[in-house]
Amino acid sequence: MVKYVYAFEEGNKEMKKLLGGKGANLAEMTKIGLPVPQGFTVSTEACNKYYEDNKQINDEIKKEIFNNLKDLEQRTEKIFGDIDNPLLVSVRSGAVISMPGMMDTILNLGLNDESVEGLAKATENKRFAYDSYRRFIQMFSDVVLEISKYKFDNILESEKENNNLELDTELTIENLKNIIKEYKELVFKETRKRFPQDPKEQLLMAIEAVFDSWNNPRANVYRQLHDIPSHLGTAVNVQSMVFGNMGETSGTGVAFTRNPSTGEKKLFGEFLMNAQGEDVVAGIRTPQTIEHLKNVMPEVYEQFTNVAELLENHYTDMQDIEFTIENGNLYLLQTRNGKRTAAAAINIAVEMVRDGIIDKETALMRIEPIQLDQLLHPTFDEKALIESNKITQGLPASPGAATGKICFSAEDVVKASQEKQKTILVRMETSPEDIEGMVAAEGILTARGGMTSHAAVVARGMGKCCVAGCGEIKVDEKNKLFKVNGKTFNEGDYISLDGNTGIVYEGKIPTREPELSGNFAELMKWADEYRILKIRTNADTPRDAQTAVKFGAEGIGLCRTEHMFFDDERITVVRQMITSKTVENRLKALDKLLPYQKEDFVGIFKAMEDRPVTIRLLDPPLHEFLPHTDEDIRQLSQQIKVDYNELKETVEELKEFNPMLGHRGCRLAITYPEIYEMQVKAIMMAAIEVKKETGIAVKPEIMVPLVGLEKELEIIRELINNTAQAVMKEANTEVEYLVGTMIEVPRAALTANEIAKHAEFFSFGTNDLTQTTFAFSRDDSGKFISEYRKKGIFEKDPFERIDQAGVGKLMEIAVELGQQTRKDIKLGICGEHGGEPESIRFCHKLGLHYVSCSPFRVPIARLAAARAVVINKVQSK
Ligand code: PEP
Ligand code: MG
Repeated sequence: MVKYVYAFEEGNKEMKKLLGGKGANLAEMTKIGLPVPQGFTVSTEACNKYYEDNKQINDEIKKEIFNNLKDLEQRTEKIFGDIDNPLLVSVRSGAVISMPGMMDTILNLGLNDESVEGLAKATENKRFAYDSYRRFIQMFSDVVLEISKYKFDNILESEKENNNLELDTELTIENLKNIIKEYKELVFKETRKRFPQDPKEQLLMAIEAVFDSWNNPRANVYRQLHDIPSHLGTAVNVQSMVFGNMGETSGTGVAFTRNPSTGEKKLFGEFLMNAQGEDVVAGIRTPQTIEHLKNVMPEVYEQFTNVAELLENHYTDMQDIEFTIENGNLYLLQTRNGKRTAAAAINIAVEMVRDGIIDKETALMRIEPIQLDQLLHPTFDEKALIESNKITQGLPASPGAATGKICFSAEDVVKASQEKQKTILVRMETSPEDIEGMVAAEGILTARGGMTSHAAVVARGMGKCCVAGCGEIKVDEKNKLFKVNGKTFNEGDYISLDGNTGIVYEGKIPTREPELSGNFAELMKWADEYRILKIRTNADTPRDAQTAVKFGAEGIGLCRTEHMFFDDERITVVRQMITSKTVENRLKALDKLLPYQKEDFVGIFKAMEDRPVTIRLLDPPLHEFLPHTDEDIRQLSQQIKVDYNELKETVEELKEFNPMLGHRGCRLAITYPEIYEMQVKAIMMAAIEVKKETGIAVKPEIMVPLVGLEKELEIIRELINNTAQAVMKEANTEVEYLVGTMIEVPRAALTANEIAKHAEFFSFGTNDLTQTTFAFSRDDSGKFISEYRKKGIFEKDPFERIDQAGVGKLMEIAVELGQQTRKDIKLGICGEHGGEPESIRFCHKLGLHYVSCSPFRVPIARLAAARAVVINKVQSK
């Protein structure tokens, strides 16, 4: 028979899944002999059963609840609903992973018109009893009966006003009785039922309310945000009450065993004398710092500091403890691992290793890789953020915090930056021409585009804050304004972007620069000791490459050569090349590009020294490069001296219905081989030059994009080899190089054994592989993926985290088939997933050799790769 209810003595800290975090820790504290008010926990299984039974607590569970209640009565020597010495309980939710979105607490349950007298007798304090009853009706009505709290506040306030009172504490017993009467009338008016007088009925209603709160909209949003599975359910804790509001030797408080912002090893918290839990949180009275308790009640303070130390050592982690003092006696109401900032998490973990409290593996598991983002980018000043006005929300495309004046074009941004002004570039969507503006702006906001749109990918590469796909803003680039929810923002107005949440704020918000402490470096060193995966970076410029090396990158996994064409000076030549009608004209344009390309590669090779560098040959979705407006076409026609109408026609011809599935990647080189020839020439010339100049033995890895057929790669590999040989012959020197391909269309994965005949390495382009596997356009998926997530179709955007069942399956097939043909084939990933911790773990399991991610993700990837080793070790035990 399943057991659904557990007394605190029956549990322990390992039983979180069944008892929830709060319940398991209350049980553990009871077990180790700490002063915990007695009680019991209704399990998460009972919650799931409640939903299975169409939201009914079945008789079996009810029986267990009441049996436990009877035991509690015996142990506390009090009786539920008694007129002499009533047992009162608190009812609190407690999920496996703590969830602020859920119902939290009901205090003083068990009070009714009779037991209130009992409480008065037992405590010899009538006023206290009636005040508790008043609070209970209000709390119960708010969270269980869902009657708005303000309606009760109004009653309370008018009673005070009518009697010329200022403070709640001045209310007399008569005042309180009047309030209670009016409260009960309000309940009847709102629910057409009397306020429940039977304590057992109150208890069942409260437990049901906790179960219901598991599925309230706030809880669902919180779960989605934090990847908490919805099948876990919540437990309910029923605990006998202790009172912090019994007078001047009573009180209540909350404390962390270390500072949760910095990690400093020092008690951090606050308390209020003569108060109950909600008074501390409600902020009506100002609590005092925990140290001050030393002056008020020195013995209790000492007892508490001892308990805090004991709990931290027992859990080997920083604890967040709630306590109550009742008539000079200390009681513990909760302990849990305290939430902390990334900086605190690192400092605490590293110091605990130094003190011999935990080992390095545990320390690595204490820091969520994604938290490191907080340390690598600027953040908003927290206080200023609270006072700021949110205007809308888009996708958190690239982390960081940015504040600046709105500009609607790259030129305006550049102009403003020359005048030392901080700007936010706001665009419908970004395109290659915007690159300089993106570099100069503090942050980027786009109305269209998903997590792998141009803006998102480029911004992440630069470590620049970006909010993309913000559909609510209506951008009018011509008139230099945007509208959102009835408000208009003009050029020059200030806005602020939070790239971690996607929230856009009105006005200026001060930001703070990141600080990387010594403990950060120490933790990274440990991560490197553990991980097997190598970490490379996606970098297209020497500057990005240097940043990545500083963060610990061991090579470049993807250098997108088309990004090198975005430069203002070059884009005209690129457009000339794309719109050329003849090979001859194309070659002319390519000749102009060759020195640029060579210089780029020289810079990158030098920045990377002897680390491997994978250069991908051109893969432009053509639409990203074409001139858009008639004005752009006119300008280009003058620049490249081609008749306007002829050029317009060519541009029209080049437009594609589905550019993402169009004439891009290696398809471009099959039709225009001279483009790749120029690029290979530039790569080899650069490698030779760097070798001669610095002695660095550069070994380029030349990568072909969007291959789906063996023949495509065979033809292009021959082109690469012929070109490389010719360059080497001319320079009379040898440079080692590899030729490989991206695996980014399903056909390549499914025929990887054939493709591997011509590839010395595979790099999974999971951006395109996700796009082509789902048939979801990368640029348009932002419009519907959030709805898919809301409806539970996706737990996570597949462009962010590898869809292991589908895309992952194709990767698995490709690895297996590739290795059949070429045992030592080098395997990596360079899609955006290469910087996402869960996906990194998957790559580790697949046996890839490296992951490649944007420079600012490198530390995250290092930690995630180390954690993958630790997790696998634990799981295989
Ligand atoms: C990919 O498709 O995963 C990839 C890395 O290439 P891009 O994003 O440039 O298409
Ligand atoms: Mg791709």
